[in-house]
Amino acid sequence: MARRQHPRTEPYGRPAAHAAIELRAVRRTYGRGGEAVHALRGIDLSLDRGSFTAVMGPSGSGKSTFLQCAAGLDRPDGGEVYLGGEEISRLSENRLTKLRRSRIGFIFQSFNLLPSLTVQQNVLLPQRLAGERQDRARARELLAQVGLGEHGGRRPGQLSGGQQQRVAIARALITAPDVVFADEPTGALDTRTAHEVLGLLRRAVDTMGATVVMVTHDPVAASFADRAVFLADGALAGELYHPDPNAVAERMVTLAARPVGAAA
Ligand code: ADP
Repeated sequence: MARRQHPRTEPYGRPAAHAAIELRAVRRTYGRGGEAVHALRGIDLSLDRGSFTAVMGPSGSGKSTFLQCAAGLDRPDGGEVYLGGEEISRLSENRLTKLRRSRIGFIFQSFNLLPSLTVQQNVLLPQRLAGERQDRARARELLAQVGLGEHGGRRPGQLSGGQQQRVAIARALITAPDVVFADEPTGALDTRTAHEVLGLLRRAVDTMGATVVMVTHDPVAASFADRAVFLADGALAGELYHPDPNAVAERMVTLAARPVGAAA
C-alpha cells in the first residue's frame, strides 16, 4: 500500500515508531459452554499512525465488541491490545480509565455532548476529566478547524446534528489521542451533512496525523478511509485499500450471504 506521508510534528509530536494500535490474537467470548457466543475469534490487526480505517461487517459480526476491546472499554478473554506500543488489556480499571481519557478519543452516533455545558466546555471536557490543563486556545483552534469558530459559547441544543457531531470531533481531538474511535458517526445525519463530517475526519488524519478507526455499515462512509477491514462471525474476512463504495457494497453483500459459522 502506498502510505500517505503526514507531518509528524504539531500537534501530535510523537514519532511514528509504532503502530497506533495493534491487536494480537484477540478473543472475546460471551457466556459459557453450549451457550457461548464467540464474538471475536482471534483478531490480528495493526493500524498505522496517521491512518483512517473503516471496520465493516454484517450485524452480529463483532464490530462493537472489536471497538470495545480495542478502545479499552472491555477486556478480551485472550490476546493482547497494544496502544502506541503499550499493552493495555491487562491494566487495572483505574489505569485503563485514565488512559482512555487522555489517549483515546470517542465519537458516537448520537454525539453524546453534555447539554448543560457550552460547546467550548464540551470540547475541553476530556482534558478536564484527565486532570490536564484545559487548553482553551487549542479548543478554539479545533473549533475553527471544524467550522465552528463562532459557536464556542453556545449550548449543544442550539446546534444542528451535523454541527453537534463537529463539536464531538473537536472534543475527540483535544488531547491529541493515539486513536480516535468513531462508532457509526454519520448514522444520525443526512447524506450531505454526513459527507461534511467524514471530510473533517479525513482532514484530521491528513493534516493533523490523527489515527481514526470508524465502525460503519455505509460503503460511502467507508470510502473516505484508507482501508476497510471486514469482520464476519468474529473473524477478519478480508480488507480493501483505498475502498471504492461499489467494491465495499459488493463485499458486504457477499459476507451477508455467507452461512453463519463459515470459516473466514
Ligand atoms: P456487531 O457490532 O457487528 O453487530 P457485536 O459485537 O455487537 O456485533 O456482537 C457480536 C456477537 O456477540 C453477536 O452474536 C452478539 O449477539 C454477541 N454479543 C454481543 N454482546 C453480547 C453480550 N453482552 N452478551 C452476550 N452476547 C453478546
